[in-house]
Amino acid sequence: MWYDDSKIGNILDCINPPIKESFPVKCPVCGKKEGHLYFHRYEKNGIRGGIWTWCSACKCSEHASGWAPQWWDNLEAISFERLASMPDYLEENKDCIDEWVNKLLFLNFNKI
Ligand SMILES: [Zn+2]
Repeated sequence: MWYDDSKIGNILDCINPPIKESFPVKCPVCGKKEGHLYFHRYEKNGIRGGIWTWCSACKCSEHASGWAPQWWDNLEAISFERLASMPDYLEENKDCIDEWVNKLLFLNFNKI
């Protein structure tokens, strides 16, 4: 089962330049390198979106509605209909999500 700890949201610090770590990143709760992040932009070119941060090791997760960064593009393989507050579906797709986030970070910050 997933549990909520707002510290997991500190994963968001990893996408602020300078980018020092590629995904999966070190989990702010348990310290294992299994931290993930996903955004979903609700409308093309809109800023509003959903944010998920979670750790595959300690099963800590947090989901909020808020914003997606300007450089964010939704991953085509992720179906909006299957997104829920608990990250089970995202966890199943974590490898392609991490690869996608790393690619976007590289394209936008030329790092990693
Ligand atoms: Zn953890």
